[in-house]
Amino acid sequence: MKCPFCRQSNNHVIDSRLGKDEEMIRRRRECIACSRRFTTYERVEEAMPMVVKKDGRREAFDRLKITNGLKRACQKRPVSMDAIESIADRIERGIQERGEKEIPGSIIGEAAMRELHDTDPVAYVRFASVYRSFKDLDEFMTELEDLLNERTHRTAAKPPKKTANARKKRRKPLPAEGTQP
Ligand SMILES: [Zn+2]
Repeated sequence: MKCPFCRQSNNHVIDSRLGKDEEMIRRRRECIACSRRFTTYERVEEAMPMVVKKDGRREAFDRLKITNGLKRACQKRPVSMDAIESIADRIERGIQERGEKEIPGSIIGEAAMRELHDTDPVAYVRFASVYRSFKDLDEFMTELEDLLNERTHRTAAKPPKKTANARKKRRKPLPAEGTQP
């Protein structure tokens, strides 16, 4: 994002808000070189920063990944889907408001930890204990899934009760590991 006055690309966001239709985000920016201010309008989906992974690779921000991580941490805990979606909303909004092009993946994990800390102690401990040793959301998700699967297999023969939401999504049999539906 270059300054329209001096063409320098260093600027910081001084205000950031969603437009009335919630599809555009309006940002007031101040140029670090010349201190002049200008406004940008960005489409919300494009306003999400790229996530820098531990190994340096970049990937698009993926809200579903966050929601899935939260759901897994909250498995069999008294945390509603509404509460999980609200947590994901706050994390997403918080990231958006930083107004940066790239963010380290650890910021997402830490935001999720803070939210879970205030939501459910067991979900928090599950998330935190696994997350702290990985610092990478992908690796973390795999590990957390293994951990929960182990526990489920040990304690219950029948599959966990499905929510209406899960039923809707999983009418078809799940595809094999590693493939996209
Ligand atoms: Zn400038």
